[in-house]
Amino acid sequence: MRESPLKKTGKPSLREFKTLLPYIAQYRYRYALGFLCLLVVDTAQVIIPQFMRQAVNLLSAAGESGEALELRQIFLLCGGMVAMMTLVSLGRFSWRYFIHGSSRGIEAAMRKKLFDHLMELSWDFYQQNKIGDLMSRATYDLNAVRGAIGLGFVALVDGTVMAAAILIIILAQESGTALWAVLPLPLITALILLFGRTVGKRFRRAQETYSAMSDTVQETFAGIRVIKSFVKEWWFIKKFADTNDDYREANMALVKLYGFFFPLITFLSEFTVLVALLTGGIRVVEGSMRPGDLVALFHYLHMLIWPLVGAGFVVNMIQRGAAALGRVNEIMAAVPSIRSPERSGESVPVSPAPLIEIKNLSYAYPRLGSGEEAEAPAAGALEDISLTIEKGTVLGILGRTGSGKSTLIKTLTRMIDPPRERVFIKGRELGRWDLQELRGLFGVVPQDSFLFSDTIRNNIIYGLDSAGDEDFYQAAGLSAIDRDLDAFAQGWDTLIGERGLTLSGGQKQRIALARAFLTKPEILILDDSLSSVDTETERRVLSGLLEGARGKTTILIVSHRVSTLARADKVAVLEEGRIAEYGSPGELASGNGFYARTAALQRLGEGRIPGTEAEEHG
Ligand code: ATP
Ligand code: MG
Repeated sequence: MRESPLKKTGKPSLREFKTLLPYIAQYRYRYALGFLCLLVVDTAQVIIPQFMRQAVNLLSAAGESGEALELRQIFLLCGGMVAMMTLVSLGRFSWRYFIHGSSRGIEAAMRKKLFDHLMELSWDFYQQNKIGDLMSRATYDLNAVRGAIGLGFVALVDGTVMAAAILIIILAQESGTALWAVLPLPLITALILLFGRTVGKRFRRAQETYSAMSDTVQETFAGIRVIKSFVKEWWFIKKFADTNDDYREANMALVKLYGFFFPLITFLSEFTVLVALLTGGIRVVEGSMRPGDLVALFHYLHMLIWPLVGAGFVVNMIQRGAAALGRVNEIMAAVPSIRSPERSGESVPVSPAPLIEIKNLSYAYPRLGSGEEAEAPAAGALEDISLTIEKGTVLGILGRTGSGKSTLIKTLTRMIDPPRERVFIKGRELGRWDLQELRGLFGVVPQDSFLFSDTIRNNIIYGLDSAGDEDFYQAAGLSAIDRDLDAFAQGWDTLIGERGLTLSGGQKQRIALARAFLTKPEILILDDSLSSVDTETERRVLSGLLEGARGKTTILIVSHRVSTLARADKVAVLEEGRIAEYGSPGELASGNGFYARTAALQRLGEGRIPGTEAEEHG
């Protein structure tokens, strides 16, 4: 099976939230506490205007009749209001703590799961998808999901409770006036629904442009050396400026929408107050309504605005959340194309010989992209390869660039997946090996080795729980990186820049070699791993390696240098994915194939006379 690229956008569907249920269940008590606090806040908030109303009525009654004011009662009402306000503040702190705490917790848990999953996915997933896009899903999208299950939830509950409570109170207390006042409300609701749909579309657009921008940035930084050496900064500056502009424009579209929408809602909702002032004011003059009742009504109508706007928020945040969650779920749904078998191959015991057996192996890479043209496989990278490698031997691999050397090596560790029943390691079919166990047999120094932005020491011992000093110095000595120790300001603890920017090509290669040596693998593979090292150092490394490994470690060396391959037991020459020559270096050198021609050319290059290979092969 093969990966296809992730879709650009998902249609927001509430069904996406199903994946959140287990997380929410985990935080159910905190959510429950949070919503309880929210209810306390809401209750206290709707009580406050009642105190206000009584106070104003007392004041106006005193004003009309000229009787002495009952100060004690006024103070009591004020005390009540202060108490409610305190409750509101405390409650707000608490619901924020519990609900935002939960949504942050869920976000962190999801991000961890996402990362774990991304670690499991195979190389082809990363070939099909851009790092920048994956990064934006892990950050921007997860933030939007958090918004939905944090503030989104709150606005939903808060808005519903507040709106219902306020409507019930005002309709019960001042039915006539309130009925008129809330008349514009359905119009507002309709507007909000319309708004939510447009926001969803524009938000998706903003999200896409963000992905594109982070893709551009990521690629630019990764290629900064090439960009600088080709003086192509201007081109990338322009490219970035374009994506940056797109992102700004997409967000401006949102800003305009919000900018138009919120004032409109406020404007319309002020109409409710206006209507209340007119109808209620007349009743106060007539004496059928008391001033305090009107003041309380104003308060309630003002408090209604937030739930209304909140409803818009909810629609929008939940939609954003659903779209974003869809994009995260898409990654989670991707299955690693290369996996350990359900039942690993214990039923097929490993046998001692031959160590590696390849029978009629052909392999073609899948094409990039999706759709029809991607279905047709690319031209074969390997064609009908058969090869047996016995334990403790050294196999050299020579071949023009693009002849399939690295591909052959990648099939052995299942970095790419060859067809079944073609490759056998210790007699067990490749697909029956547990991946970790299989890869544990190998120490591979790939052609394009990667160094982490850490110290030299940590780059060598990385991933090993315990590496004794003795082993470390042995590996460093074998790879000849210890020769350069003087050049490193802080010795082994010198920090190297990102991807080893502060090192020479040869230093990087030798650090990668030391890393592989330190794991003491059964099978050591060097894929052109000494290409940037001078011949003298290369000779030293190979001698040390072959001496120490004799008969114990099986070694595969890919190289373009015949001098390197001359020390191998056997050499395979690849040509367009096929084995064109196979034999001992001596045999091949005396023939007239690619090996012999390359040998002759390289000896000329080194200023030696052809025909003295006997001395080289020892
Ligand atoms: P070099 O000496 O330059 O390292 P190589 O012999 O190691 O060359 P491979 O990397 O095995 O060559 O590539 C063999 C063929 O497979 C080439 O034609 C290459 O373009 C193709 N190829 C390599 N990697 C991929 C990939 N990930 N996806 C598609 N095609 C690939
Ligand atoms: Mg290669």
